[in-house]
Amino acid sequence: GELVVSFGEMLVDFVPTVAGVSLAEAPAFLKAPGGAPANVSIAVARLGGEAAFVGKLGDDEFGRMLAAILRDNGVDDGAVVFDAGARTALAFVTLRADGEREFMFYRNPSADMLLTADELNVDVIKRATVFHYGSISLIAEPCRSAHLRAMEIAKEAGALLSYDPNPREALWSSREEARTKILSIWDQADIVKVSESEVEFLTGIDSVEDDVVMKLWRPTFKLLLVTLGGQGCKYYARDFRGVVPSYKIQQVDTTGAGDAFVGALLRKIVQDPSSLQNQEKLEEAIKFANACGAITTTKKGAIPSLPTEIEVLQLMENA
Ligand code: ATP
Repeated sequence: GELVVSFGEMLVDFVPTVAGVSLAEAPAFLKAPGGAPANVSIAVARLGGEAAFVGKLGDDEFGRMLAAILRDNGVDDGAVVFDAGARTALAFVTLRADGEREFMFYRNPSADMLLTADELNVDVIKRATVFHYGSISLIAEPCRSAHLRAMEIAKEAGALLSYDPNPREALWSSREEARTKILSIWDQADIVKVSESEVEFLTGIDSVEDDVVMKLWRPTFKLLLVTLGGQGCKYYARDFRGVVPSYKIQQVDTTGAGDAFVGALLRKIVQDPSSLQNQEKLEEAIKFANACGAITTTKKGAIPSLPTEIEVLQLMENA
């Protein structure tokens, strides 16, 4: 099979209609569907792959809108459940003129946090070739237990586990709590993707030199990736490591680049799992993922800018 199952949150981001303002200054907001695991599932489907999303939405206008976005993009939403008593999560987010991101979350609690282990669609999870997740779903019960159970089910069924941790400090009670909980499931993963700033967050060292990144390596890992924005990505596998530069594009908005990168890489890995043991194949898969991430930065928003396979191949050919 080639199914990528993503587990976690899907929500509505509200982003200012004009650039470079604080949330208080913003004159108006646009709806931008998001949530990293949902973005990954749509990235996979947009590339022509098989994708399913597992998570909980509010039984409200926004929840139904988000499920329709999954379906319209070819993602299986059969494992999405709806909570009649809680709202779909909202996040107001802006990139201020000083370069700082400002967030305001409406999760008190939101439906995604209320998914229980009993509500998991075991059949869908068992069909996964890759089971992908982040760390927002580890923050609060009962979703935390559902997340841990889903990982167990996927692993027992033979799936590769893919982890893209996201510190999002405002959502945790403390930095230390975020670090500890993010690392509490570290060793179970087969594939882990972090960004430069996440290496610093997790190791306490502001460097992506090999000796620093290797602090995050585990002997059971198959692949550890460090994304470097416009510089591309460093990769560490059991028997080899290296750097793959990205492509030259006109960057407009980086939202979703990391998710596009992960979606593209997982798409390649389910098509040919031997890429994890073959350096040449792995570098080719990472080039594809870099190109997918690069294209995603050329337009505003995450989901609208996710490319098709043809668009990715065109950027690679014309480079
Ligand atoms: P996010 O910003 O979505 O939270 P992230 O920090 O992991 O995630 P980046 O490192 O910014 O994401 O980007 C992911 C990948 O997308 C990079 O590894 C690279 O391949 C590609 N990419 C991002 N920005 C650019 C750029 N300006 N030019 C070329 N490629 C880019």
